[in-house]
Amino acid sequence: MSKITIPRQIIRALWLLEKEGFPAYVVGGSLRDALMGNPPHDWDVTTPALPDRMLEIFTAAGYTTIPTGLAHGTVTVLVEHTPIECTTYRIDGEYTDARHPESVRFTDRIADDLARRDFTVNAMACRLPHIAKWDENEPALAQGLTVSADELEIVDLYGGREDLSRGIIRCVGDPATRLTEDALRILRGVRFCVQLGFSPDPATEQALFDCRAGLSHISAERIAAELTRTLACPLPCGDGLRLMSRAGLWQYILPEVKNSNISKYFECEDDLLCAVDSLPNCAEMRLALLLCGTDEAGAKAACRRLKLSNKMTEAVSSYVGAIDRSCPKTEAETRRYMAALGAYAEGALAVAAACHADEKKGYEAALTRAGAIRARGDCLAVADLAVDGKMLMKELGLRGRAVGEMLAKLLDVVLEDAANNEKEILLRIAGEM
Ligand code: ATP
Ligand code: MG
Repeated sequence: MSKITIPRQIIRALWLLEKEGFPAYVVGGSLRDALMGNPPHDWDVTTPALPDRMLEIFTAAGYTTIPTGLAHGTVTVLVEHTPIECTTYRIDGEYTDARHPESVRFTDRIADDLARRDFTVNAMACRLPHIAKWDENEPALAQGLTVSADELEIVDLYGGREDLSRGIIRCVGDPATRLTEDALRILRGVRFCVQLGFSPDPATEQALFDCRAGLSHISAERIAAELTRTLACPLPCGDGLRLMSRAGLWQYILPEVKNSNISKYFECEDDLLCAVDSLPNCAEMRLALLLCGTDEAGAKAACRRLKLSNKMTEAVSSYVGAIDRSCPKTEAETRRYMAALGAYAEGALAVAAACHADEKKGYEAALTRAGAIRARGDCLAVADLAVDGKMLMKELGLRGRAVGEMLAKLLDVVLEDAANNEKEILLRIAGEM
């Protein structure tokens, strides 16, 4: 029987609501993760208390509250810096834009609230029996609580626990209806399959395919957030990527995966997806590999379309731009490669290795050399040279552009042989030049 651990901060929020006569449930992804023995990264509570009443209760107890989404019933309370999202039981109104309900209505039945949730494993709630009777001295309020699941009152109206134990992602209610209401659920569904190592129920998988056109209504930011979270999962993502292919999702999220240039590196899409899976769980590297059919500019354009951060865009486009650079074979070539790619060098080598299966050994050797070069701290940039512009001006009388040009030449000398990075040697070489 699974045990679940609820930290004292969450227990406190539940207790404050229950003491005032409002049932308070841990709900959704936080209960799912806790039942699986994974500490939830965010905690959600659902209760019939209206938002204003929650604000009153938490404020009176001395906690900071944030009116996150009062109209949707959500109040965030900070208990010892832990944010807890507390939402009034609600029924979502009609969906007209494939993403947001037109309106929401509060209800006093938890069953109504669970019915609006996306997947069975996300549609469970649990409550601590007797918590309303606790006083301030109850140890769990100070220490948190680890209890076996059967000591909790669990509301599971859709077979969530069974799906959790069988590893199934299944929509609550009719899959086509639920995925049409909010197409973001399509990508959430794929992400949960990858994150949890689950498979979609057949009817849900069919609906992923049937409802995919709804993705054209989903904002780039949302698509990007789900895609990067999927790619960054520590568990293998290959099955999830193949699910994206079977469900015809690439066209809506990353049409570049269908680019015919991919055949330069991979015989078929499945080989590409296997290669993505073989990379470390770094979203930038994996995304770059998915974009290998484009070039640096094409990768940048795809990142811009997805509204990814500048930092991520730079990483992804650098990796893609380096795919066809020749594999460095010597120490000097490796240093030159690292000088050109800066912090992206190792990632670029790994992405290129995935594209050029026939040169895998060569790339592995280059990665090993790059590790040793970093560990030794070999000079890889002008700023790391043993001489600087001032010295060149003072010792050699150089001025203006000549200074920068000389530094670039000296860097080249040092990249060729790291032992040259000594002040006397560099000044002598500069003098001879
Ligand atoms: P994670 O936090 O890892 O993204 P989660 O399941 O906790 O997973 P949240 O976005 O934190 O996802 O949402 C909490 C809960 O709210 C979900 O478990 C689900 O019950 C419900 N939910 C969130 N987004 C949707 C949605 N688009 N449609 C229906 N229910 C949703
Ligand atoms: Mg969550």
